[in-house]
Parts: sequence; structure tokens; C-alpha cells
Amino acid sequence: AAKHFDVVVIGGGAAGLMCALTAGDRGRRVLVLDHANRVGKKILMSGGGRCNFTNMYCEPENFISANPHFVKSALSRYSQWDFIALVDKHGIPYHEKKLGQLFCDHSSKDIVRMLLDECAAAGVAVRTDTPVTDVETGTPHRLQAGAEAIACESLVIATGGYSIPRMGATGFGLDLARSLGLPVQPTRPALVPFTLSGRPLEELEGLSGVALDTVTTAGGMGFRENLLFTHRGLSGPAVLQASSYWEEGQAVAIDLFPGIDLAAHLRELREQRPKLELKSVLGEQLTRRVAQRWCELWVENRALEHLSNADIEQVVAACQPWTVWPAGTEGYRTAEVTLGGVDTAALSSKTMECRTIPGLYFIGEVVDVTGHLGGHNFQWAWASGHAAGEYA
Ligand code: FAD
Repeated sequence: AAKHFDVVVIGGGAAGLMCALTAGDRGRRVLVLDHANRVGKKILMSGGGRCNFTNMYCEPENFISANPHFVKSALSRYSQWDFIALVDKHGIPYHEKKLGQLFCDHSSKDIVRMLLDECAAAGVAVRTDTPVTDVETGTPHRLQAGAEAIACESLVIATGGYSIPRMGATGFGLDLARSLGLPVQPTRPALVPFTLSGRPLEELEGLSGVALDTVTTAGGMGFRENLLFTHRGLSGPAVLQASSYWEEGQAVAIDLFPGIDLAAHLRELREQRPKLELKSVLGEQLTRRVAQRWCELWVENRALEHLSNADIEQVVAACQPWTVWPAGTEGYRTAEVTLGGVDTAALSSKTMECRTIPGLYFIGEVVDVTGHLGGHNFQWAWASGHAAGEYA
């Protein structure tokens, strides 16, 4: 006979654990199943091991979805302040790194331990190394967890997206959604470095490791943050953010002098300090290495007094913006998140329950909601997990 639970959560990541502890707190009998050898692996590796667990300025505008309004309900009912209160309750020390991004002082392990302690206190059973097969929705839902047959009233899918397969990511939730006839928005890697090839890559040879303050824009969205040159192309927070708005074949516009009218600046300096070299002027913002390279590539270095207006236009054309055509992205191997996923039209924004299949829920990254860099993706996992946990 099948073992019965009120709630089964497939996927013991950020969203799944939050859902489980919330449902457990309501007195529901909850089981979490994960095929990996431990839960919360992405939490552990996140934020360079210190987990950027939320963002003080998290707003619906920080999310990408075919329906930008969908996130509002869950985010307002479980906000960053609710999660911060939970972190405080467990005495976990943290700090703001920049731009409202909150990181653990010590380790991401603190967050996983907190979630597991809360799960234990709420009587949640957590099973790792347990592959799930033969999912059949109904009243009750039925599934096979390893060797065990299980039945449940509520089934929550929290298996995440495709990013970082070696951390246990699978297309399980998306495949299940498709097999049940639910709409799925096209998926692609996001928060991911760009790759360059051929000439554009050769032009940047030797610059790997240099970081610049930029406004990097793709698909009409610009981000003021650092850009980092890599061996294969471009990375850094500005580039990762822009990648979520980039589509294959599009150009990326990189303002290398954010907040500065470069043409006016050069003309003014040409008057005031005519002997100054172009390379030095550019170097103040671009670093010496990049300024040198830009002079080799676009406008030969010389004293400003020898720069014509046409030369200045050429410098500006190479910097404001510098236009780059990425060959592609690094893909799911390094992408922090998966764009797209289970279409929000299929779900209730209040409960995350499937409109056509009662008692079936989708939460976290498997849903077509993708946050900006900076703790927003975890905030979505907490908020959507909490929303489902209140009803499942
Ligand atoms: P996940 O956390 O991915 O959890 C899914 C779980 O489901 C996993 O435990 C997995 O083992 C399990 N699973 C998968 N398939 C199956 C299956 N077939 N059967 C059973 N179980 C299965 N976001 C931030 O907000 N801040 C950060 O600092 C941050 N840093 C990141 C760093 C890296 C390197 C990466 C890759 C991502 C980072 N993110 C960050 C994004 C964030 O980790 C995700 O958005 C978040 O983990 C999604 O939560 P989730 O619960 O939906 O999915």
C-alpha cells in the first residue's frame, strides 16, 4: 500500500524547503524528496559560498516574466523583511555588500541549517538520494520515490531550472508540466557570461581580469555595474544582468563612460590641457591596459591638441557605447538561472496552485519568473515557496 502524506515536495532547494517548513508549521504531514545526496546545494554554492539570500530593495520590477504582475501577490505576502526576520531569529550574522544585497558573514551553510532546523521543528521528513518516478496526478496524487509508493493530497514541484547540471539540476519539473499539457515559456540560460569569437575576441586578448564601471544594455535594459573581461568574452555583474534580456543575434551596448558626456569632456580638455595624451584621458576610466588597446584599435594615441572633431567622434563611437556582438553565452554550465519555465497563466498567483490540476503546485525557478542578480532569485524562491506552503 502507498504511504500517505498531506504534502509531498519534489526538490529540496530554496523554494521546496521554504514550502515544506511553512506547510509543516500548519500541521500538515510533509515529505521532501530530492534525488541529490544533500538538499540546498545551490544555496551552498551561491554568493561565492556566502549566499546572497535576499535584497533589501526587492520589488516586482526586479523580475522577468511573461506576466510581470504575477510576482506581486507572493512577494507582498512574504517579503524580504519576513525572510530577514527569520534569519535574525536564528541569530545568523549578515551584512549588506552593496545595492541592498544581503550576504551571510560566515557561510551559506547557515541558511541551509536554518531551513533544515525549521523543517525539523515543523516535523517535515526530508529524503535525499531519492529519485522520483511515475508521477500520476489525481485524488490523491501518486508517485514512486525510490522503492516506495507514495500518495499525497498536495504535490509541490520545486525542482528548479536547467542551470548547473552538475549540481543536480534537471528538466524534471518542466518535463512534467509539458506531459500534463501545461504551457511552458521557452527556456534559456540567464545571468550568464557572454562568449565572443573571431575578431572581437582577438581584439580583447590579454585584457582578461580587467573590470570596468559601465552601463551595459541588452534588449532595451541597461545596468550600471562592473563589466569583467574574461578569456572567453565578457562577464561581471553588468553583463550577467544584461544577459537576461539578450537574445541570440542581438548587439550589446556598453557605455564605458557612464554619466559622462565623453565628446564634451574631450573637447573641454583639448582646450584646457592640449598636451595631454588621449591614452591618459581614457585610462582614467578604462584602466591603462584597456585605454592602450582602444587607441591601438580605434583612434591612434596622440596629444589632445592633435585630435580633430572627427577623431573625437570616432573615440566616442568606440566607447559610448562600445557595441559588441556576442557569439553566445556560456550556457547552462555556468548560468545562475533559467529564464522561462512553467507559464504563470497556468498558476494562481496567490497559491501557486495549478488552475487545471487541483492540489498540484509549481514554485521557485521552475516557474516563468526570473530575478535580477543580487538576491532576488532567492527572494522569489522564499516567497513562492511560502505562498504554496500556506495552502498546500
Ligand atoms: P533549486 O535551489 O535549484 O532546487 C531544486 C532542487 O530540486 C535541488 O535540490 C535538486 O537536487 C532537486 N531536483 C532537481 N531535479 C530533481 C528530480 N528529478 N528529482 C528530485 N529532485 C530533483 N540567487 C540569489 O538570489 N542569490 C545568489 O547569491 C545566487 N547565487 C547563485 C550562484 C550560483 C552559482 C547559481 C547556479 C545560482 C545562484 N542563484 C542565486 C540562483 C538561485 O540559486 C536559484 O534561483 C534558486 O536556488 C532556485 O531555487 P529553487 O528551489 O527553485 O531551485
